[in-house]
Amino acid sequence: MSKPQTSVVILGGGPGGYEAALVAAQLGARVTVVDSDGLGGACVLTDCVPSKTLIATSETMVLLRGSASLGIAIPGAGGASNGGGGASGPGGPGWIDAPRLYRRVKDLAQAQSADVGARLAAEGVEVVTGRGRLTRRTRPARLAGAHAVVVGDREIVADVVLIATGGLPRIMASAKPDGKRILTWRQLYDLDELPAELIVVGSGVTGAEFASAYQALGSQVTLISSRERVLPQEDADAAVVVEDVFKRRGMTVLSRSRAAAVRHEGGGVLVTLTDGRAVHGTHCLLTVGVVPAVGGIGLARAGVALNGRGFIEVDRVSRTSAPGVYAAGDCTGVQMLASVAAMQGRIAMWHALGEAVQPLRLDHVAATIFTEPEIATVGVAETMIESGQVKAEVIMLPLATNPRAKMQGFRDGFVKLFASPRSGRILGGVVVAPRASELILAVSIAVEQLLTVDQLAHTFSVYPSLSGSLTEAARRLMLPARPRAPFGEPAQ
Ligand SMILES: Cc1cc2nc3c(=O)[nH]c(=O)nc-3n(C[C@H](O)[C@H](O)[C@H](O)COP(=O)(O)OP(=O)(O)OC[C@H]3O[C@@H](n4cnc5c(N)ncnc54)[C@H](O)[C@@H]3O)c2cc1C
Repeated sequence: MSKPQTSVVILGGGPGGYEAALVAAQLGARVTVVDSDGLGGACVLTDCVPSKTLIATSETMVLLRGSASLGIAIPGAGGASNGGGGASGPGGPGWIDAPRLYRRVKDLAQAQSADVGARLAAEGVEVVTGRGRLTRRTRPARLAGAHAVVVGDREIVADVVLIATGGLPRIMASAKPDGKRILTWRQLYDLDELPAELIVVGSGVTGAEFASAYQALGSQVTLISSRERVLPQEDADAAVVVEDVFKRRGMTVLSRSRAAAVRHEGGGVLVTLTDGRAVHGTHCLLTVGVVPAVGGIGLARAGVALNGRGFIEVDRVSRTSAPGVYAAGDCTGVQMLASVAAMQGRIAMWHALGEAVQPLRLDHVAATIFTEPEIATVGVAETMIESGQVKAEVIMLPLATNPRAKMQGFRDGFVKLFASPRSGRILGGVVVAPRASELILAVSIAVEQLLTVDQLAHTFSVYPSLSGSLTEAARRLMLPARPRAPFGEPAQ
């Protein structure tokens, strides 16, 4: 007798949901994805994909601004200095066609969403449009499926449920977005102009990325940061480089400043700070965090516990406190990245459908902050070394001396490697550079494959190349006189 087909219902069609659906379908399950706002989720439609598309244009503006120093004269553009971009130079006001830029962003997101839909359809996944919620089963118990999800007037019974409902922008009571002047990042692309004076509240990853992008696009940006420096959770050296670049390019960074309220004033906005100061601008972008989208989906009744921050509590194989109910992605608050959401979703399905599964390893996650320059990281953080949690040697090489960086006309950035002093194993690294998101893969492979500095140092890199600084950093960490523990020793 053949095994009955397992039925899976997934709430949410973002990376946490759709990647899980693909795995479950490939493993032979009957899969239904319920999604309310479009396949690909916020990741594809409003957050990750749109912001990176906007940033692709802003990166080109940075290159244009630096073009004069590379010997390029753009007829009629006036003389622009490297990184400056004066009013008449490349990158000055008037160089951006905002409606066209935003149209491109939205069209690309829709196309990506359609690709996700086509992929799910090809794998035989049923997609139901609407808001779903867990409910008590009304169908007779003799029918298979321990759980029920309701969408409109339809009840879908399933053996396994995955909740991947994502998150929502956190809203301050004293700063209500109106979609015109006071904005969340999801409302930016409905503007028909480039904000002339943009105040960005919050200097975490999202705030720093948009501040960097809009500064490059030609807005006058003020970044309000409640901490001593921007990107307080990130590698301190990397944050210093990026903040210096921001300031050099003309951004106003208000550190140790907390926004108390945002309101309309005249044709623009007024942001008042908790110390009484006021900042005027044409637009304000609020980037003060993400809250889990878990309201009204029947979690309490299903026995799904939340943690102290209101996110769904999960273990490293994505199980919630309710048997047969899994959760993945931003609604779990584990690490708000598309790649982590997708991995949590896949792990949930492997586990639920009886496959061998490796629990989620957050210490191997590669991440990038898409400022200009980018900050890419993987593995242990230097704070863990400083606190004594991890024993590691650190090497940091500035890119200012890298020949390729000189040729390409930039000097802001570095590579940093962390390696075990005993085994030489590479435990992590940081790259600050244009396209650091691509360069970090070498370090990521080293971390994942337990490579040593000797092995990286003996690997050919191209001359001239930015990745040459990675092999050079590994060479500097190779101290031949030092006795090494046998290969394969556990990380320190
Ligand atoms: C501005 C910005 C830029 C980012 N850039 C990056 C980046 O470059 N790289 C990266 O890795 N991460 C990035 N992220 C993070 C990334 O977008 C999220 O981690 C990712 O979207 C999480 O995926 P998810 O599947 O959990 O949720 P989402 O992508 O939010 O998808 C959840 C889906 O569930 C739907 N839904 C919610 N409730 C219900 C319901 N009751 N019934 C049915 N459907 C429901 C929602 O409508 C949505 O479609 C960025 C985030 C932001 C804010």
